[in-house]
Amino acid sequence: MLAKTLVSFLTLALIAGAVPPKKATCSKGRTASDAKCCIWFDVLDDIQENLFDGGECGEEAHESLRLTFHDAISFSPKLFRQGKFGGGGADGSIMAFSEIETNFEASLGLDEIVEEQKPFALAHKVSFGDFIQFAGAVGVSNCGGGPRLQFLAGRSNHSIVSPDNLIPLPTDSADVILARMGDAGFSPAEVVDLLASHSVAAQDHIDPTIHGSPFDSTPSDFDAQFFVETLLKGVAFPGNGSQPGEVLSPLPGELRLQSDFVLSRDPRTTCEWQSFVDNQKLMVQRFTKAMAKMSTLGNDVRTLTDCSEVIPVPKPAASNVAHLPAGKTLKDIQAACKATPFPTIKADRGECSVSDRGYAIG
Ligand code: CA
Ligand code: CA
Repeated sequence: MLAKTLVSFLTLALIAGAVPPKKATCSKGRTASDAKCCIWFDVLDDIQENLFDGGECGEEAHESLRLTFHDAISFSPKLFRQGKFGGGGADGSIMAFSEIETNFEASLGLDEIVEEQKPFALAHKVSFGDFIQFAGAVGVSNCGGGPRLQFLAGRSNHSIVSPDNLIPLPTDSADVILARMGDAGFSPAEVVDLLASHSVAAQDHIDPTIHGSPFDSTPSDFDAQFFVETLLKGVAFPGNGSQPGEVLSPLPGELRLQSDFVLSRDPRTTCEWQSFVDNQKLMVQRFTKAMAKMSTLGNDVRTLTDCSEVIPVPKPAASNVAHLPAGKTLKDIQAACKATPFPTIKADRGECSVSDRGYAIG
């Protein structure tokens, strides 16, 4: 009886311990849960050093994150229902057909990052669709407080050129943006979640005279500043007067997109917008979830391999709560969420302009 119990116990122990996940050994002694992920450690080393200047959250990181969206959002079930090709989503088409897709009005300027990225994808023999999403995830992990995005590998390298007019423009109304994003499967709240990306973003082509002007005062930090600064009263244009897609900005050196302005005050999106002002953790969590959806648009996730473990762990955020730029008070906030009062947040001391914060404009 004792022997039998012992055998049962041993059997149980064996079953419990019998399936340690088999780890594949990759380069430099690193391990992965699936051998298919090993290649991505090599891509990581290469792009951190040679694309992101040693792991920075600079222009290449900003543009790489933007590229993930412009490749993926070209996906329209509505067009498919009409019997037309609606785009392959996150399929690498913007790199495969860059001469066409980067000439779409919404994607002007992306030809530069496509040309920078493409040799890495070719050298490592990975698909364009995978590479674009991987580079975006690695780039944003370099930003302080950044998300550690999911990365699934295995997208086909076959794509067809996307139809035009599927990427929202800064000149679009809230109705147009929410309808287009809704067609691609995103709720109004998820549109706001995705816009957390504008916390680490800058423009080049809305007003080319102020190349590289950011959308918040901290473009190297994935913080909640974007969500508070967009709610401030606009006072001036930072560059060469008013441009299409641009509205008055609250701070020198910062450019405000008309699309961000309308969505920050629209009844369908303003409460989600405001909810991030004093909760950067929530912002990261929601962004991560929405990006998992966006980065796989047009793909069957059951055919992809989870290689998220290759994505670096970002540095923690400096603060979970945004602050008012110096010289601003809560009276400058144009809060539009009726359901919840605007949170009480602190103001910085001294003078504030975006260039004060060490972000070079020009
Ligand atoms: Ca695409
Ligand atoms: Ca920021």
